[in-house]
Amino acid sequence: MQQLEQANFRGKKVLVRVDFNVPLNEAKEVTDATRINAAKPTIDYIRSQGGRCIIVTHLGRPKGNDPELSLQHIQGTVAQILGAEVHFSPATVGAEALAAANSLKDGEVLLLENVRFHTEETAGEKGFAAALADLADFYVNDAFGTAHRAHASTTVVASFFETEKYMGKLLAQEVEALNKVIKDGESPVLGIIGGAKVSSKLTIIENMLDALDHLIIGGGMVYTFIHAQGGKIGTSICEPELKDAALQLMEKAKAKNVQLHLPVDVVIADDFSPTATTATAPVDQIPDAWMALDAGPKSREAFGALVLASKTILWNGPLGVFEMESFAYGTIALGQAVAKATAKGAFSLVGGGDSVAAVKQFGLADQMSYISTGGGAMLESLEGKELPGIKALNI
Ligand code: AMP
Repeated sequence: MQQLEQANFRGKKVLVRVDFNVPLNEAKEVTDATRINAAKPTIDYIRSQGGRCIIVTHLGRPKGNDPELSLQHIQGTVAQILGAEVHFSPATVGAEALAAANSLKDGEVLLLENVRFHTEETAGEKGFAAALADLADFYVNDAFGTAHRAHASTTVVASFFETEKYMGKLLAQEVEALNKVIKDGESPVLGIIGGAKVSSKLTIIENMLDALDHLIIGGGMVYTFIHAQGGKIGTSICEPELKDAALQLMEKAKAKNVQLHLPVDVVIADDFSPTATTATAPVDQIPDAWMALDAGPKSREAFGALVLASKTILWNGPLGVFEMESFAYGTIALGQAVAKATAKGAFSLVGGGDSVAAVKQFGLADQMSYISTGGGAMLESLEGKELPGIKALNI
């Protein structure tokens, strides 16, 4: 895999696939520019080397040409963040886009119209990928968030560049952060897998066992495990059809010398509601008609101690229904413990959807070693899958 620093971009046109799929408000202003900021180092670097950046990204899920999702809405924000003029091409490919690309000078930036205005993009259509490739001399992929998709601009386009294809800095950082946990994590390595369902996390857990010393299972997944062991779970979320899979997983963890930790006590509620009556119960003695929605105080303490004793921490998925204040304390306590461990020198990677939302919501984001920018891509990497967008960069 080639790193950006190996290329000579001077005077060359560089097609840079980024993930600028940012949220817009009603006035079509960018409300969170995290993703634009995340790709800035790559664009800055190419520009500083005299490269001519042709930025390609999707925005939302347009059905055909949709002015509401035109990238023109974000042109100003991109220019402001890059501190540079950003030209805009209303065409993504074809003569008009080519003319705009060809009129760029060294260090200049062109933003192409939303690549998903073309249905060929998500279909991974070769002709469309070829038309994108026609625009440039080099291809750089810095869109980790879409690296698990075999779309025209994320994957197929790379096949039209023999050797002139590179990982952007963000993509390289994501891969490095994952490897720091999965391949060469310093022991003790702790995985924390929370979230709603066992079914969506089973492959991840299985795949990660080789890398871990300890595994905390939290969130709604817990009750399938407790049910499988004969515990009373009341009306807590459960996937009884995965009972055997859960027991097998416990056996596998044992065989691989991974210590599995489940909560010992939980916060229970008489309703799935922020105003429900709550109480604390042992995890396997949840009364009928009550449901468990968070880790209890003893569990928080035990998990906190485990986190503080770890050198490498991977966290995916909340410990409870953190969206409701009454059931957020387990996730908050865990986030605080991970922050503390990180300050003490542990490497912490937070990734995959809701745990990222949680650490942001609780103001802990800047206290983690690395926060992944790609939910789905992160989950698929953890499942052990090679991401098509990354594979396509191999030469
Ligand atoms: P996931 O996308 O699989 O990581 O799941 C995240 C969701 O799991 C969040 O929306 C949480 O509210 C939910 N969740 C966490 N713990 C529980 C629980 N005990 N019961 C029901 N849902 C839960």
